[in-house]
This record gives sequence, C-alpha cells and structure tokens, in this order.
Amino acid sequence: MEPRFACTACGKCCHGLLPLTLTDAVAHAVRFPLALVWTVMRSNAKSYDLATRLGTTVRLPNRKTVAVLIQPSAYLPNHFPCPALQPDNLCGIHADKPSRCRTMPFYPYREEKDQADLLVPRKGWECDVSAEAPVVYRNHAILDRADFDRERAELLEQAPVMRTYADYVLKYMPWIVNDLAKMAAAPAGGKLVTSLSSFLTATRRTDARELAAAQAPLMQALAERTRNDPALADFHKNYAGWAKEMERLAQRP
Ligand code: SF4
Ligand code: SF4
Repeated sequence: MEPRFACTACGKCCHGLLPLTLTDAVAHAVRFPLALVWTVMRSNAKSYDLATRLGTTVRLPNRKTVAVLIQPSAYLPNHFPCPALQPDNLCGIHADKPSRCRTMPFYPYREEKDQADLLVPRKGWECDVSAEAPVVYRNHAILDRADFDRERAELLEQAPVMRTYADYVLKYMPWIVNDLAKMAAAPAGGKLVTSLSSFLTATRRTDARELAAAQAPLMQALAERTRNDPALADFHKNYAGWAKEMERLAQRP
C-alpha cells in the first residue's frame, strides 16, 4: 500500500525541540530560544554518509569515527508548545514558517529512500493517513518535493559553517569528545546541547550583537518559566546561563 498523509493541523508536533536551518534560526531569532543540538550517528546507521556531508565527523578516543549532526534549534522541553503555535493549534506564522515545518513529515537529514517510517504518525499525533489522504511517497521517492529539496539545499549550504563550529568546540572544549563517545556507546544515543554564544564566537558573525539582543529576553522568560520545575532543571540552568551570556554579548561595544 502506498503511504498517504495529510496534516490536520492538530498542532501536536509543534512542541519541543525544533531543528532549524541556520537561515531560519537567524530569521526567527526574536521568536525561538536558540541552541545547537549535537546528534551522533554510528557508521552503521542509515543515512550515515549523508550525515557526514551535512554535519561533521569526529574521531573518538576508541579510534572509531562517528558522524555528528549539529542542528541550530529552537530549544524547548518536549511538552512546551512552539512560541508560534496559537491557541487554536494553528501556526501563527504559517506564511513565514521555517523550512523544517514546511517539509514535515519528511526529514532531509535522511536519505530520500529512508522516509517511509516518518509517515506513520507518532502516538497522539492526528495526521490523516487514511485512504482519503493523498499519496505523498511512491517507490521511495517524495512526490511533492520542493520543500524537501529546499531544506536539503539549505543544510548543504550551511555545512561548512557547522564544521567550523565543530572544530572550534572540539579545540576549546575538548571534553565534549568524551560526551560524544558516551552518546555513541549508549543504545538510545542522546543529544548534546551547546550555546548560541559559542556558535556566534566561533563563526565570528557580524550580527552577533543583534542576535544576542533578540535572544536575551527569550532566555530570561524561559528561565523564569522553568525555575521551579525539578524535571526541567537542566533547561532552567541553560536558559539562566545563556540569558546572562546574551545580555553581555548584546552590550558589547
Ligand atoms: S513555526 Fe508554526 S508550524 Fe512550525 S512548529 Fe511553530 S507553530 Fe508549528
Ligand atoms: S502532528 Fe501531524 S496533523 Fe498534527 S500538526 Fe503535526 S503533521 Fe499536522
């Protein structure tokens, strides 16, 4: 049976971490609290070669090499709604929404032939996969592919910047390689999060002050919102620390 899919705009997938292209992260810096999210892929993983092109490769202390994707992301706890999600569950920035949202449910960090299981809605999602929904994927190919191609092109274009950032982090924060090794060894993998300020420093962005000024109030608000929830202690610590970093960076001459 050919996979069918239509979005019913239930808003369920508009929660938690949202990976963004770098272009979208910058464009929406007044809206999304930004961080860099690192994901390790072992050499036997599907789409490993693609991950080495979109991300970087890192040699671990055990001499194994892994691919590492570094995604600029809206950094939110799993159950927090996207700041652009409206009370009616519709997207408040539909005409201007990020590439990641346009390409849903497809995911250009994976090879096109490996997309079929993304068409099975996760628990609680209300995507229409009935016989009434349109066929969207046939013979391992995406039928309406403009958004997928656009997001993939943006990811390929930004890859050299992500590699520059990875080199910087591994040089100035060398202990991170041990964290990556732990993630590579864990059956469930894992994610490592680094700050926007380290990215702005590493890549010497000329708009660093403006981006920091946009981010500081978002980080402050989220630090407040997560202050008294022990389950969100890691988020709170990051938001509070990054709010100070962003304030300092915004005031730099
Ligand atoms: S930008 Fe819009 S579509 Fe994307 S996660 Fe937020 S509310 Fe959902
Ligand atoms: S979970 Fe499915 S139906 Fe709901 S908003 Fe996301 S893609 Fe659309």
